[in-house]
Amino acid sequence: MESVVNVVKGKQLYEGKAKIIYATDKPDLYIQYFKDDATAFNAQKKGTIGQKGICNNKISTCFFELLQTKGIDTHFVKMLSEREMLVKRLDIVQVEVTIRNIVAGGMAKLLGLEEGIELKEPVLEYHYKHDGLGDPLINEYHIKALDLATDEEMHYIRERSFEINNILKNFLVDRALILVDFKLEFGRDAKKKIVLGDEISPDTCRFWDRETRKKLDKDRFRRDLGGIEDAYQEVLMRITGKK
Ligand code: 5GP
Repeated sequence: MESVVNVVKGKQLYEGKAKIIYATDKPDLYIQYFKDDATAFNAQKKGTIGQKGICNNKISTCFFELLQTKGIDTHFVKMLSEREMLVKRLDIVQVEVTIRNIVAGGMAKLLGLEEGIELKEPVLEYHYKHDGLGDPLINEYHIKALDLATDEEMHYIRERSFEINNILKNFLVDRALILVDFKLEFGRDAKKKIVLGDEISPDTCRFWDRETRKKLDKDRFRRDLGGIEDAYQEVLMRITGKK
């Protein structure tokens, strides 16, 4: 999309746990506002992480721009301000895609594995986007039977997700960060084309320092490890070179 889009901010459409979505005067464009609020364990744990919204907006912008240069279509149009990103309006597919390179979090728990085991190849999981149920694990049969997406759409989503993993992994290696795992959301744009949506940030990815394996992501909040603000700033600096 052209980079000279100017929009007028409209009414608030939706407030989520970490973001607010606003309409604009252009029906196919929304504004995504990044908050400092943080939740974990299906919103049972609540808090704020200072400057998180600013970090996540800048980090997501960097990743979306990188992916777009590599031919991945995303909802990103441009960064509007420190906390605001202009995005394409999407009809979100109610399936979260998780890619894992190293065992952690949900996979460690589900299969009784120790965190930190390198996987022989990336693992892809689907979770049904349903807060009330805690985003349960589902497979392609559920997705088809519940009409959440077509086979063709899921084929595209699966291929893009692995491609995104390779692009991000390679990019982060040079920044001394290990991409442990991450979650993606896709949606249909005005032309019904599947594009990547949501955000890519320390809220939605696990990043470990390559040398020390220190956690530099939302796990510091989830597990009360302290130093959360510094971890987000550190990721921002390594990724963009700027604070
Ligand atoms: P896990 O299934 O191990 O809890 O999460 C796997 C990866 O996806 C982690 O990087 C985690 O941050 C991300 N993820 C999965 N579900 C969610 C979610 O509902 N919200 C956020 N912010 N991240 C998620």
